[in-house]
Amino acid sequence: MSPKTTALCPCQSGADYASCCGALHCGRKQADNAEQLMRSRYAAFVLKQIDYIVQTTVPSQQALLEREALQQWADNTIWQGLKILSHRPALGKTHSAVEFEAFFATENGVQTHHENSLFVKIADRWFFVDPTVPLPKQKQPCLCGSGKKFKHCCGELLCL
Ligand SMILES: [Zn+2]
Ligand SMILES: [Zn+2]
Repeated sequence: MSPKTTALCPCQSGADYASCCGALHCGRKQADNAEQLMRSRYAAFVLKQIDYIVQTTVPSQQALLEREALQQWADNTIWQGLKILSHRPALGKTHSAVEFEAFFATENGVQTHHENSLFVKIADRWFFVDPTVPLPKQKQPCLCGSGKKFKHCCGELLCL
């Protein structure tokens, strides 16, 4: 048997992990766009890199994330693959959406997790907006720091 010198990236780009999401996970590179960030977050779940999941969530939401729940979810999920359905890079100057399906194994066969995720660019970096943590009230300032009211910014886009 020959030694394993390369490993395909779990995000299914077909590229080497080291030159694909690996470069993002270790901080050598920033995601160029929302789709790349989404792929790297999926790969981070596969590889149980919870720090990366936290760091790539909108800064104002990071303290609201339940690290242990994320860890448990990653530990107990057997991921089977990722399929990007659409990437809408121009929802606004700094907002994008990525619709995807992620597949995971259960006792009853492979199940599909379907999500339309919102991403926001802050100071030239892309972040994931987590709709499952407590969100600002409609008239409060948006979580992304745009200065707009939540309902006129990410609040509106999360409903798409
Ligand atoms: Zn990758
Ligand atoms: Zn916003």
